[in-house]
Amino acid sequence: MTNQEYIRQMPKIDLHCHLDGSLSAHTIRELAKNADIALPEDLPGLMSQITVPQSCTSLSEYLSRFKLPIACLQSAENLFTASHNLLADASKENVVYMEVRFAPTLSMREKLSLDVVIDSVLQGLEAGRRQFGVAYGVILCALRNHAYEDNAQVLSAAVRYGDQGVVALDLAGDENRFPTHKYRALFKEAASKGIPFTIHAGEADGPTSVRAALSFGAKRIGHGISIKNDTDLMEFCFENNIGIELCPVSNLQTKAAASWEDYPLLTFLNRGLPVTVNTDNRTVSNTTLTREFGELDAYYDLDTKDLETLFRNAVNVSFSDYRHKQRLHETFDDFKAKTQTTNW
Ligand SMILES: [Zn+2]
Repeated sequence: MTNQEYIRQMPKIDLHCHLDGSLSAHTIRELAKNADIALPEDLPGLMSQITVPQSCTSLSEYLSRFKLPIACLQSAENLFTASHNLLADASKENVVYMEVRFAPTLSMREKLSLDVVIDSVLQGLEAGRRQFGVAYGVILCALRNHAYEDNAQVLSAAVRYGDQGVVALDLAGDENRFPTHKYRALFKEAASKGIPFTIHAGEADGPTSVRAALSFGAKRIGHGISIKNDTDLMEFCFENNIGIELCPVSNLQTKAAASWEDYPLLTFLNRGLPVTVNTDNRTVSNTTLTREFGELDAYYDLDTKDLETLFRNAVNVSFSDYRHKQRLHETFDDFKAKTQTTNW
């Protein structure tokens, strides 16, 4: 079996995937029609509004591609359809578990309540799980540019929906303009309520941002590219089993990493850190997990052991419960048993 074929067939886990940035062009057309939003007739015209070019220059340019998807996510029906379709798309590349994240406060322009927004996404994902067999957990995103009170509402929702599929809290948005240390009060509150959280850090900002996130008690770091510049920080992540959610294609587009040469995958893997590979935004980045692993393989010539390590890491640092983690490990055991006789 070729590397490419192995990557295509292996079970996959996506721990860092934003709902709004991962709506396919097909889904956007369906949602826009329901919402009476006019779209360019041609596919390139539409894609230019929801996907960044390879020449993307910054995180700010990257974030501009969320305008149309968010405008489409303002009704219960559209939130349901978007979530359902995301699992349909993921199932096509053998994703077996996905942690889907989104900022519920961005879907309240038409006066939907926070609970209706969250319920609609959970119902869409549940329908998708039943139909396509992709298990899921939901991560609610607090936003750096939102007021404390709004983010505190999202935190309360994470508590309320803790037994209904919401597994964690996140902090997303422009890390340069809104530095991580400002969110201590929010995450102190999350920690006191026993809500696990991951924080986007070390993407546009340096190790100080990651240090702040870890000082709050973050269990995982979104991106965490700048951890590579700080050996003490790497040591801390190793000692404390801090999951690092790399999103390679996105990280190169936003210039969190300058090039593959500069990319920290092997540094983290060789140090034994629980590093994982994820998509971030399937549509904005024009990616899939198959593409992410394919790009990494083309540059680093990964072997099956590396791919297995990345899968096991994702299971271990996921916000899933113990029994489900066991089942996910078994999924990979079964895949290995099936492919053992074939040549790699
Ligand atoms: Zn992200």
